[in-house]
Amino acid sequence: RRDEELLAVRDLVVNYGPIRAVSGVSIGVHRGETVVLCGANGAGKSTTIKAIMGSVPASSGSVHLDGQPITTVSAALRARRGIRLSPEGRQVFATMTVEENIRIGAHQLKATDRNTRVEELFDTFPLLAERRRSRAGDLSGGQQQIVAMGRAMASRPRLLLLDEPFLGLAPIWIASVSDAIRTVQAAGTALLISEQMARPALELADRGYVLKHGSIARRGTADEVRSMALAEEYV
Ligand code: ATP
Repeated sequence: RRDEELLAVRDLVVNYGPIRAVSGVSIGVHRGETVVLCGANGAGKSTTIKAIMGSVPASSGSVHLDGQPITTVSAALRARRGIRLSPEGRQVFATMTVEENIRIGAHQLKATDRNTRVEELFDTFPLLAERRRSRAGDLSGGQQQIVAMGRAMASRPRLLLLDEPFLGLAPIWIASVSDAIRTVQAAGTALLISEQMARPALELADRGYVLKHGSIARRGTADEVRSMALAEEYV
């Protein structure tokens, strides 16, 4: 069981009505591993991530977590089983404070554990502690990305899905978000990162996949994927 993949996606197909967005994708993530899913705009990265979270249904194929099938399990139950998503465009609760956002992420913990977890997060993500009482909507895009990650990490997930965490960020914020991702890795959490701008994500990854028109065109170590992606201008 130790060697078994934490996440195993097999032959995943997702259709939006007549549009096939994902056609036969297989992806594995081992415990504690960081895997990048790269590919051009519209290649099917977000749809794959949503199907793993359970927010869009698989038309066929399967998703297993820890060897257990979760293909038809609701997103809410998948979250309870240890998968969390930091969505594309961050989607923080803009009118709430940073702390309130983090507390929402911790809601599935036992009430007695919630305060401890929130303080732990402020210890591990100093940037969140500094802005604890700020309105999330007043923060920069990079800060909001870290709030979204902190919110997703609040329930101590085993697998964190990051959809385009670097999208639209200035270089200084790419560095801060990379640091936040290293904090997640240090906690032993496995990561699947969808990213069109794959370069900063590949710096942090063990392995990667390249999606093209809804299928896996390439796969390999982070270095292998970086050279393929460079040749094909994904980074
Ligand atoms: P992006 O970088 O823009 O997020 P992506 O690689 O994540 O791109 P998806 O968003 O998964 O790609 O989209 C894959 C395909 O599915 C595209 O052709 C897109 O137009 C289509 N698509 C995505 N969402 C929907 C939807 N809700 N209804 C219909 N078609 C959709």
